[in-house]
Amino acid sequence: MAGEPQDDCLFCRIVAGHIPATIVRETETTVAFRDINPQAPTHVLVIPKAHYKNAATLAAEAPQLAADVLRETQAVADEDKLDSYRIVFNTGSGAGQTVWHAHAHVLGGRGLEWPPG
Ligand code: 5GP
Ligand code: ZN
Repeated sequence: MAGEPQDDCLFCRIVAGHIPATIVRETETTVAFRDINPQAPTHVLVIPKAHYKNAATLAAEAPQLAADVLRETQAVADEDKLDSYRIVFNTGSGAGQTVWHAHAHVLGGRGLEWPPG
């Protein structure tokens, strides 16, 4: 069923507490934790607790939850006192998606070039 936890999903395992993570914020529906391989001084992943394979599926099947994730990106920026930051949803392997559980990257704390590489 849509949103059900997947045993073989890394981020579902973080949500379940089976894999440790440095959690920044948690709400009823979302978790935000620091990326294990940070690309900026702030590099936090915001995920829905429910499993959706990417942002597009999340937005289509659970729009309220997609809004929860987006709202949490601002809360993470506030937590790290960022007034500028970037939100990235890598969608598909060609765009660099490696974990198939929807997640927003929140990047900040340094200059961010545009367009990105
Ligand atoms: P993607 O490449 O799918 O957009 O992003 C996946 C992100 O998850 C990568 O930035 C990667 O560093 C991060 N990541 C992979 N494994 C772990 C882990 O076990 N713990 C944490 N905190 N981040 C992870
Ligand atoms: Zn998952």
